[in-house]
Amino acid sequence: MLPSPLPKADSLNILFASTKEKPEFWFPLLRAALPAERFFAWPDTNGGDIDVALVATHPAGTFSGLARLKLVQSMWMGVENIINDAELPPGVPVARLIDPGMVAAMGETVIAYVLDWHRHFWGYRQFQQDKVWKRRRQYLASDRCIGLLGLGELGSSIAEKLRAMGFNVAGWSRRPKQLEGVFCSTDLEAVLARSDAVVCLLPLTPQTRGILNQDSIQKIRKDGCIINVARGGHLVMPDLLAALASGHLARAYLDVFETEPLPADSPLWSHPSITLTPHIAALTEPRTSVGKIAENIERIRRGEAPLNTVDFSAGY
Ligand code: NAP
Repeated sequence: MLPSPLPKADSLNILFASTKEKPEFWFPLLRAALPAERFFAWPDTNGGDIDVALVATHPAGTFSGLARLKLVQSMWMGVENIINDAELPPGVPVARLIDPGMVAAMGETVIAYVLDWHRHFWGYRQFQQDKVWKRRRQYLASDRCIGLLGLGELGSSIAEKLRAMGFNVAGWSRRPKQLEGVFCSTDLEAVLARSDAVVCLLPLTPQTRGILNQDSIQKIRKDGCIINVARGGHLVMPDLLAALASGHLARAYLDVFETEPLPADSPLWSHPSITLTPHIAALTEPRTSVGKIAENIERIRRGEAPLNTVDFSAGY
């Protein structure tokens, strides 16, 4: 059921609740975009009188007592923390953030990792350390196929960029899809079997947890790489380490981990075949996302359904 339109004169009360995003960066932009609304930074919940919650890895208890809530707007693209919160009030829509700045950043990260593997730069870094002057075999982009697990907002944009660079691209999605020049399939095995490098761009759901495991990794072509920029739970770490040790995979690029921050004593930090980054593959960019957030809040004010809402039955 759609919310009733609100009288223009009434301000909406908007709660900002995040353990990662900083209100001092967001509030000036939000206030400029939504001058009529009132903003509160958690734990100040205006006595529970909140219409919209803006959240990203929100503190425990954020939703308790918010009886008037009309929208939970994520400030991140991944929403598993929100939809798995037992205190999320039933029936309140949850909207994902589709941030053009974040989509662009993810494209840059994935392309940087694909090129690092494809052009053997990871190996040449080691050669430099060892003062070794040696050439490795050169491949053309058209010799390689990049497999994308997930063809959503991120996957479909990255598919286009990789195609423009001359790579073959295969992509896996839950529902059948058509993207020009891309081998699209709902059959995971068909995608993995033709992929040299595999990029995980899936939401973390019960169906996708552990999707990169011994069985699936063995189906990737030999000497390839895995790039996990989705969530740590997608990858079974001992199975990845075994595939690197056996030489089946040449390399792994990991931005996300089961436990974040990655503990200082994790052997992954110094693994010679792993490049890792601290969950920075694509950060939300307030400058490019505030307009998207404002649009959804205006829709709530007009009594319209918000955009990009989570399909709870699919889990993302
Ligand atoms: P999205 O638009 O919801 O797309 C998800 C894709 O995964 C869709 O193509 C979907 O298939 C597919 N999928 C979902 N469940 C599946 C299943 N069981 N089997 C096969 N395919 C399945 O998501 P997005 O905006 O591209 O973002 C993807 C993820 O990236 C986020 O959930 C987040 O975890 C991660 N992320 C990471 C960072 C970072 O900095 N590391 C930044 C942003 C996002 P359909 O097309 O059929 O729906």
